[in-house]
Amino acid sequence: MDTGLPCGTPPIERGRGWHPAAMDNERADLVLTGGRIFLGDPARSWAQALAVRGNRIVAVGSDRDIRPLIGASTRVIALRGRTVTPGFQDAHVHPTSGGLERLRCDLNESDGREEHLRIIAGYAAAHPDQEWILGGGWSLTDFPGGLPGREDLDRIVPDRPVFLPNRDGHDAWVNSRALEIAGITKDTPDPVDGRIERAADGTPQGTLHEGAADLAERHIPSTTAADLRAGLLEGQRYLHAVGITAWQDANVGRADHDAYLALAGSGELTARVVGASWWDRRQGLEQIDDLLVRRANGVLGRYAGTSVKLMCDGIIENGTAAMLQPYFDGHGMRTANSGLDFIDREGLIAAVVKLDALGFQPHFHALGDRAVRHALDAVQAAREANGWSDTRPHLAHLQVVHPDELPRFRTLGALANAQPLWAVHEDQMTELTLPFLGPEASARQYPWRSLRRHGATLVMGSDWSVSTPDPFLQMEVAVTRVSPVTRDHEPFLPDERIELVDALVAFTAGAAYANHLDETGTIAVGMLADLAILDRDLFDEGAGAIGDTKVLATFVDGVPVFERPGLD
Ligand SMILES: [Zn+2]
Repeated sequence: MDTGLPCGTPPIERGRGWHPAAMDNERADLVLTGGRIFLGDPARSWAQALAVRGNRIVAVGSDRDIRPLIGASTRVIALRGRTVTPGFQDAHVHPTSGGLERLRCDLNESDGREEHLRIIAGYAAAHPDQEWILGGGWSLTDFPGGLPGREDLDRIVPDRPVFLPNRDGHDAWVNSRALEIAGITKDTPDPVDGRIERAADGTPQGTLHEGAADLAERHIPSTTAADLRAGLLEGQRYLHAVGITAWQDANVGRADHDAYLALAGSGELTARVVGASWWDRRQGLEQIDDLLVRRANGVLGRYAGTSVKLMCDGIIENGTAAMLQPYFDGHGMRTANSGLDFIDREGLIAAVVKLDALGFQPHFHALGDRAVRHALDAVQAAREANGWSDTRPHLAHLQVVHPDELPRFRTLGALANAQPLWAVHEDQMTELTLPFLGPEASARQYPWRSLRRHGATLVMGSDWSVSTPDPFLQMEVAVTRVSPVTRDHEPFLPDERIELVDALVAFTAGAAYANHLDETGTIAVGMLADLAILDRDLFDEGAGAIGDTKVLATFVDGVPVFERPGLD
């Protein structure tokens, strides 16, 4: 490994602090002193100070060790007991759509029908030349049964089509104009991978589930390269502000891929990004040729398009997550529906064996227990066919995991990619999930501690813009299983709480491992200087709730990519 040290500098033993014998006249560019620096090494040790030269960490130790490296041009930040961590990494996030949503009609921060309608009306009035009203971010719990209606939209936007996906992107709220343009009427059959919500007489009600949303979405004028660029830059700015220095984009289409390459080429991509190309479930292995072409010119600067996203199933709330046992009807009776395999088991195995052999990283959306089983079956088949590769397959979401699957993560080297924020008692859980899963499957949700107990490698990600990308809110829930919005509530399946240090490692070294960014994720001499400075001592219980932590500065390659004023 290139240590990043100037020629003639005696080698420094990595992770052993600063040795006076190794000192040279070369001063540091950046020194952080007087802090609680979480190194994230296997021993999970701490230091007081560190020094950066160029884009690498060149010394880690005590204030005394580091002081000789301070020169006239060194920037020195006195931490005054605050915490420094390796830069946070998000192992499953959607920054382009999240950023675009922030720039469009953004309902993520608003609550309830009235407030949403006020925002939509305001946005439509302020953007008279937008052909379609786009954006999204409403929540299922904002409407009875999770079903917003078209009439509400028709009243405020009668003349232009409106298409607004919900926060998790699985449903869309549309007005009559959008239905008309899409040709969706009471005679339109449901597509195989979705459902048109209907009134009693069969007329479309205004909510389109899963694949049914595609029927309208395909009529939206395509997002331009300029839109994607703006969305990506806004997403990047927002993620840096919560301490994130790298991420895995969980759904990269061709245009997104090109947008990343353009930013990587111009030097505007300040985050390290792994792109997961979308596996088209309507095609088979023939799409691999395209993926190979895309990868061949898909690694540039801080971007690497080396992962493939395989969407195995849907979500519980609309009955599309693939379950081993059928759903209940909400009144204690079993139904005939056990969800959908978006990719059937044999197709999934064939795809993953081939992708793994070609060195692609499989990134699964596996939410129901049947999807989790099938994804692990596919990894097992790849291991058997190809031997132990370094593709680091990972399964995101893991909402319901059957106990038989828990040890398989360890034995197969499949990473558990957790979205910890969702493991709480909130309306979406109590009203739209528990009654339909039934008691047995309900008790197997988000089993983070069980996975750790079975030796699984835990990595974390937000799935933003489904929910907040703020790692501190997510770590608080990982530790408490209580929503930061209602901190006096009962914890959700409290036996599955994990330690803060485990959550922190999952968001740093763990996610860095999932991203194949092996020179990041920990703080040690020779590592890249990707860092986050927090506004407090994160482990001091007297400092307040974990989720209230704010980031003061974020560094990538030793350069601040986010900074609040007054840090020095
Ligand atoms: Zn996602």
